[in-house]
Amino acid sequence: MIQTYQELQQSYETLETEKSQMVQEKEQLEKELEALKNENDSYQKEIESLKTPIAQNKNDTKTAAQNKTAYLTFDDGPSPNTIKILDVLKKYDIKATFFVIGSETETSKKIYKRIAEEGHALGNHTYSHNYNKIYSSVESYMEDTWKLEALLDEAAGVKPKIIRFPGGSKNQASTRTGGKGFMAELITRLQEEGYQYFDWNVTSKDASAVTQEKEIIIRSVLEGVQGKKDAIILFHDNAPKTTTVEALPEIIDALKEKGYKFEVLSESSYYVHHR
Ligand SMILES: [Zn+2]
Repeated sequence: MIQTYQELQQSYETLETEKSQMVQEKEQLEKELEALKNENDSYQKEIESLKTPIAQNKNDTKTAAQNKTAYLTFDDGPSPNTIKILDVLKKYDIKATFFVIGSETETSKKIYKRIAEEGHALGNHTYSHNYNKIYSSVESYMEDTWKLEALLDEAAGVKPKIIRFPGGSKNQASTRTGGKGFMAELITRLQEEGYQYFDWNVTSKDASAVTQEKEIIIRSVLEGVQGKKDAIILFHDNAPKTTTVEALPEIIDALKEKGYKFEVLSESSYYVHHR
């Protein structure tokens, strides 16, 4: 086949046109590709921005679910350990509740005062802590309570309405001395007078030995708080309870780690009643 110059010229022009069309098409496709890339980038950004609030919400939910409170309570002070306990609490900037008994020494009075001044709660654990005396009659218990109340008022300017029964509300001693219905009668009377009583739902077991092993105290508390939103933790504050003081920093660290915040007990706070 012989092509004329004219024919070749035509086919050249056709090819040139096709070429320019393809170049245009290529440019168009490149533009589309660029647009898709941009779209992809903005989608990625959107995905990232969506991920962040989800993560934050998750944390919020976790925090709400973990809204846990620990009430550290110390019975039987003042003692040589009270100052050490107060120093630990001060270091951690947390507040606790002290169910104290009566002691007229100047040192003790200063301790009552320091407890109140540093924002802790003072609770009434009776003046004498003498089971035979306090559980012999409702009047006897009330008088003992009022005697401590007067002392705390004088020393610290506080008349606590929160109380803890020596031995707790389910103590055996009161049944022996006052009879079966005694505690119910006593509780009614105290409530009529505006007092609220507190037992506990976690024990440190620091009263199960004269000086309990530090590791047992730590383990008892940490096992005891498991699954509890509110934990009223029982400790003792008297001279031989040196390991209670030693265990305290580790217990506080571990409770913080578990998401607990620390509060003091009050007439309107969470409470535990054993009866
Ligand atoms: Zn006690």
